[in-house]
Amino acid sequence: MPRVRFTLPQVKDYPDSRPSACPHCGSVILNRHGKVTKRVTDLYISEVTVIRYRCTDCLKTFRHYPEGVDSHDRSLRLRGVSALSWALGLSLRSVSHLLSALGCGLSRMSVWRDVQEWGSGALSGWMNRTRGRVRVMGADETVIRLRGKKTVVGFVTDAKSGQLVGMDVLVDKDSEGFMRWLQRYVSRFGVEAMVTDDLSTYKPVVERMGIEHQVCIAHVRKNVRRRIDEIDGWDWHRARIWRLLTELPEGGGRELLRMERAVRAEPKLRRLVVELCGKWPSLLCHQRVGGMPQTNNCTEKTIGRSKIRYKTVRGYKSMEGMMNGLGLTQWVWSGREGLDLSELVAA
Ligand SMILES: [Zn+2]
Repeated sequence: MPRVRFTLPQVKDYPDSRPSACPHCGSVILNRHGKVTKRVTDLYISEVTVIRYRCTDCLKTFRHYPEGVDSHDRSLRLRGVSALSWALGLSLRSVSHLLSALGCGLSRMSVWRDVQEWGSGALSGWMNRTRGRVRVMGADETVIRLRGKKTVVGFVTDAKSGQLVGMDVLVDKDSEGFMRWLQRYVSRFGVEAMVTDDLSTYKPVVERMGIEHQVCIAHVRKNVRRRIDEIDGWDWHRARIWRLLTELPEGGGRELLRMERAVRAEPKLRRLVVELCGKWPSLLCHQRVGGMPQTNNCTEKTIGRSKIRYKTVRGYKSMEGMMNGLGLTQWVWSGREGLDLSELVAA
């Protein structure tokens, strides 16, 4: 488990500054126009003072709230705790019970609204938090239930830092769909190489984008092991293929090409050899491209962050709700040591 320290929004009972400008017209000449007491639901404060101002230009009045309070009847801190508790693993019902026990009762629906509020804040800041180039990018997909249907969500990471770069719902799972999904990131971040799993859709897409491709070695080995075990006889060839795949020697591709002729009598073996032969350059990409990992663990780990939360969710009811939920769990489990929830309000 990573060590994470969360900072919650502050809540003050009195505004400690004047408003900088009129929210209606932008004028800076404002007169105080009385004050009101507002009841708030919060873990520590139950009442705050709100100052009213009148604009000397447009003559409209408005309320100026203390830090951590807005027009909502619950403080930012309480809404933040609610969303955070959900993202850390509690169900909507459990968060509702927990906060009720702390004297701040709220419904499951309210908890869900809080998750939406903070999740959308996390999502909107995502692309902007990724700075500079992403030379080596990892891509992977996962299936999430949306209104009972399986929905594919694609994740893109910076393979070097392991940080999430983007998340997208993949409607079309063909080459064109993958192209539309990945090209945006490749162009925007100047990506030079990509690591993916063994799924055949990636290969032509990465080739079309003209960048280097590493196929996750762990995936390939797992698939090849299973296929080798399904073949009877041919012990020498099977052992040799496995050895090539574990040692990845120079000239391994040429050897596979020669082997193809020798194994034609066994279609299963031949198919495996032909496929590996075509994949060989992508298995060795990590030897050519600096900073390229052998496996796609970086992206799988990232997806896992949302799965921790996802385990206790039976599925999402709306696309927006799903993306906000994923955004919040990704932010909470991003692996950074200090996380300030206020960052999501400002975003
Ligand atoms: Zn004004």
